[in-house]
Amino acid sequence: MKPAAAFFNHPVISLKVNFGGFVPLSTVDWRGRAVCTVFLRGCPVRCSYCHNRPLQDGEDLREVEEVAGLIRSSKLLVSGVVFSGGEPTMQPVPLKALAEASRQMGLRVGLQTNGVFPKVLASLIAEKLVDHVALDIKARWERYDNLLKEKYSDPVKESLALCRDARLAGDLPEFEIVVTLFRGYEDEVPYIAKTADGVDLVLQQGMEGGVKPLTGDELRKVADRVGRVVKIRTREEGEVVYAGDRGRRVSGERQG
Ligand code: SF4
Repeated sequence: MKPAAAFFNHPVISLKVNFGGFVPLSTVDWRGRAVCTVFLRGCPVRCSYCHNRPLQDGEDLREVEEVAGLIRSSKLLVSGVVFSGGEPTMQPVPLKALAEASRQMGLRVGLQTNGVFPKVLASLIAEKLVDHVALDIKARWERYDNLLKEKYSDPVKESLALCRDARLAGDLPEFEIVVTLFRGYEDEVPYIAKTADGVDLVLQQGMEGGVKPLTGDELRKVADRVGRVVKIRTREEGEVVYAGDRGRRVSGERQG
């Protein structure tokens, strides 16, 4: 097998990444595209519902070239790679190196992010190293800092604005705002939807032990309140593009 170093323009000397895991083939991390997914360890945010809690902390340092080799091992199966976490933008240098390596393999690059490091996002977009950004928005702005116990609303707003501008300018091919919605927090959605004007909006079924997840029908009722097309993702129905209060599905697919 060709060494991973061959995929870099220049030799990378012992660049490490705090590695969280690798999925060689996923059809749910970037809807409509078969991808491999690289999880980077570490996240400064501490969501109580985190689906990847073991990746919030800890250390598993690997050579970037080793992880690039994992991506290469999936190359025949996928057309893209998604960087997720944890928070991938927390490790800007290895993330950029892996995005560059992926580009050189001919892969599209997607990013799942909480948006708290807007400068990293701006740099990846400026260097045309990312094709798809899925930005988590966790609450209305007025509640954000209180909920996350840190002043994160301003950097997340900055990330949203720069991704929206890049999308409009054609510098970012795909951009979506993802709201992971739990029962009892439905009232947040109309506020968040206002900030997502002109951007793809995803309502994703939140899963947390002890709380009954919202059903597809319940999520559609929430979507009716925002009066716009919304993508609804549930474990039961996959992703459905939902157009509004006549209960009409524009299209749907069952995945995962
Ligand atoms: S921002 Fe994402 S990775 Fe970080 S704690 Fe929250 S859910 Fe987990």
